[in-house]
Amino acid sequence: MGNEMSRREIIAGAGAVAAMGLISGFIGSEARASAPKGAPGTFSHKLPPLPYAYNALEPVIDEETVRIHHDKHFAGYVKGLNDVLVKLEKARRDGNFDSIGCLENDLAFHGSGVVLHWIYFSTIGPNAGGKPTGKTAEFIDRDFGSFDAFWKQFAAASKAVQGSGWGVLAWEPFSKRLVILQAGIHQNLTSWGVMPILVCDVWEHAYYLKYQNRRAEYVDNFAKIVNWKKVDEHLAMYAGQ
Ligand code: MN
Repeated sequence: MGNEMSRREIIAGAGAVAAMGLISGFIGSEARASAPKGAPGTFSHKLPPLPYAYNALEPVIDEETVRIHHDKHFAGYVKGLNDVLVKLEKARRDGNFDSIGCLENDLAFHGSGVVLHWIYFSTIGPNAGGKPTGKTAEFIDRDFGSFDAFWKQFAAASKAVQGSGWGVLAWEPFSKRLVILQAGIHQNLTSWGVMPILVCDVWEHAYYLKYQNRRAEYVDNFAKIVNWKKVDEHLAMYAGQ
């Protein structure tokens, strides 16, 4: 029961009802399988390994940035999510919800941070860039008019994020269309139910060592490392083949 409850909380925290399949890729299934059913504090997510070498995104993103971003920042969100799940389980056990506002905020922040970083690192890579194929190409043309028009909007949205946040391309089940959103920090400005399939992290930790205040240059270069094949795989999970 405890594990199932935790899974549902993650979904809520990610603002994504269909996220079950998406996040199951990195849920700590081994830890869950070996834990007594419903045992408190034993549920945990694991940091997904970086699917390429730390220097594989050079020269667009430097090795040190990738190393810190993945091993420190992403890891921090995974830990933050695990910590708040334990605290929520304790709150339920104790029947004490005095800190529920703070805990729900942490759940949304860290849960969304985990989902967005997982999509970020899994949809960029070496030998990438270019243009999408398959359903992604078809839906981008249909929903934005052309790839060029799409990219201009996606880049503009990413560059214009106020403070820390993300540019997001997402599948919206409600309308069965692709939408471009901004995310403020990780969880603000979403549209309920959307499934992000490509995200551009514009927190300063994603680019500052190399680009300093030149976020626009980072976003323009980001086009060279988008792995459209992976994006298409993500879309297929939600929109079908
Ligand atoms: Mn980040």
